[in-house]
Amino acid sequence: KLSDRLQLLLDQVPEGSRLADIGSDHALLPVAAVESGKAVSAIAGEVNQGPYEAALKGVAEAGLGKQIAVRRGDGLEVLEPGEADCITIAGMGGSLIAAILGRGQALGKLEGVKTLALQPNVGEDILRRWLLNNGWVVTAEHILEEDGKIYEVLTAYPEGDAFGLTNEQLYLERVLPGGVICSPDMLLQMGPWLLEKPNAVFTAKWQGEIAKLEGILGSLSRSELDSAEEKRSKIRAQIKKISEVLECLP
Ligand code: SAM
Repeated sequence: KLSDRLQLLLDQVPEGSRLADIGSDHALLPVAAVESGKAVSAIAGEVNQGPYEAALKGVAEAGLGKQIAVRRGDGLEVLEPGEADCITIAGMGGSLIAAILGRGQALGKLEGVKTLALQPNVGEDILRRWLLNNGWVVTAEHILEEDGKIYEVLTAYPEGDAFGLTNEQLYLERVLPGGVICSPDMLLQMGPWLLEKPNAVFTAKWQGEIAKLEGILGSLSRSELDSAEEKRSKIRAQIKKISEVLECLP
């Protein structure tokens, strides 16, 4: 059985996909995608030898060697252009996922790709910014807690292919129920869809973020440097912005 995190990612994969799972490790996701019939074929990409061997083993044990190709290489380099129409990347930082997509896009590896399902461990804002700047529209966002960790899953489609949705609409400054204005910057940080339907995990994530920032503020308060004061005021402003948004949530 897949973890709830990987199941949520699999839920984003359209039926009949030709899937590529990059950074696949044990190939759990492509195996489940093909076994469930969601993917007609899959490629499991891995850059490191150990996880690459784990992927080979996972696919062999599932008896899916014909449907799933396991390839060793960096990011999207393992793909021929047009080979996959859905790409999943999970369990890495948002900046690494964005770098993988950026290098892949420059090599033409995103041609023909209709769906991205991404699960950054941190740096969700960096990934949202990359998608926004590179012609991808986030069409869904999910957040879940598993084994004491909080994860976000972002689903994106190419602009013009995103069910009529545009990035302009998505990141338009909006007024939250309590009257607080949510800036495009806060939408990129917190997630436009998560803000639309905030749940308890979302609130817990951002309360945790405030606690983390307050901890940093505490350690900075012992410093007399001018640069520390500058940092302190930036952090205070960030805490204020997050708190204002949280206060507006139902
Ligand atoms: N995707 C699986 C999951 O979410 O359970 C495995 C996540 S694991 C924490 C991250 C994997 O990404 C590692 O196996 C690592 O070798 C692989 N990885 C990191 N950078 C990569 C890159 N540039 N290209 C391909 N794989 C990469």
